[in-house]
Amino acid sequence: MKTVKDTDYGIRDKRGHWSPFKKLTINPEYLLPFHFSKFLFKFIKDKFIFGFMGYIFIAMPILCWLFLSPDLDTVKNFEIGWILFIFIRNLAIILIFFGFFHLRLYTFNTQGNEFKYNPKPLDKDNKKFFFNNQLIDNLFYTLCWGVPIWTFYEVLTLWAYANNFINYITWEEAPIYCLIVFLLVTTFQGAQFYFVHRLLHWKPLYKYVHAVHHRNVNTGPFSGLSFHPIEHLLFFSGIFLFWIIPSNPIIAMWYLFFSALSPIGGHSGYEKMIFKNGKSMPSGDYNHYLHHKYFECNYAGAGVSILDEIFGTFHDGSDGATKKIMARIKDKAHYL
Ligand SMILES: [Zn+2]
Ligand SMILES: [Zn+2]
Repeated sequence: MKTVKDTDYGIRDKRGHWSPFKKLTINPEYLLPFHFSKFLFKFIKDKFIFGFMGYIFIAMPILCWLFLSPDLDTVKNFEIGWILFIFIRNLAIILIFFGFFHLRLYTFNTQGNEFKYNPKPLDKDNKKFFFNNQLIDNLFYTLCWGVPIWTFYEVLTLWAYANNFINYITWEEAPIYCLIVFLLVTTFQGAQFYFVHRLLHWKPLYKYVHAVHHRNVNTGPFSGLSFHPIEHLLFFSGIFLFWIIPSNPIIAMWYLFFSALSPIGGHSGYEKMIFKNGKSMPSGDYNHYLHHKYFECNYAGAGVSILDEIFGTFHDGSDGATKKIMARIKDKAHYL
């Protein structure tokens, strides 16, 4: 049985930091320059073949809408019972999903530092975190702010559908239209995140809001949604697009679930998760890891890194890109 090794995929520097051999690509790869055959192949691959994790992401909102959501008659009026039900369901999803990564990679440390970008463990004695503990700090912002604000947007949107305040178009009425909108949700979310994220790096907003997230330089799974509440409000606000364009609750919930769950990739801290049978699955996103390391680069999600390329903020992982970014950051003080 051959077990994958991080030395087959990348290199550790003198300080023990791991980086992949391959430079990061500009995604979607077919746009700059536009390449039709690549477009056909990659678009279908990106939108239909997601790998194990991707299928779980996609199944979650569909199953939750079908089996773990109140029906539209119930949500016509705000009542504590159904709101609490959605809150507890979302809380359980985050705890199980992020918790799985945290327990495996950090608590039980099943693969040591194999494929870990930063060799250090999470902070347990650092004054910048609540109770000097990074995990407690991350859990606080994720569970006490992240889950309630995700739930708030979901409750509001379901209530608006139930009361016909927004245009509801069913899968039966327009299956192809619904499929296209559904497939574009991740691209839209990545693009919205880019612009919200750039705004969050505006000095006053960074200082009072986004700095909460950037306390985490060496990130862990629960760092993914560890935001100041104002950042949560902005982060999930793309839901309002689905108040404008005709859509339906499954598509709206897909946007919210994707927003809530996808940060695991950028923050797990490990490029791959290794299983007992020697197999592995992708569990990280070096693109966003570099954002936490160098601050003023890679604002978009990896899926739409083309936006970083267009606006001159793309870091492909090379030493040359690091030098360029470091020379450009004029005011390093407010990141410390
Ligand atoms: Zn982050
Ligand atoms: Zn940032």
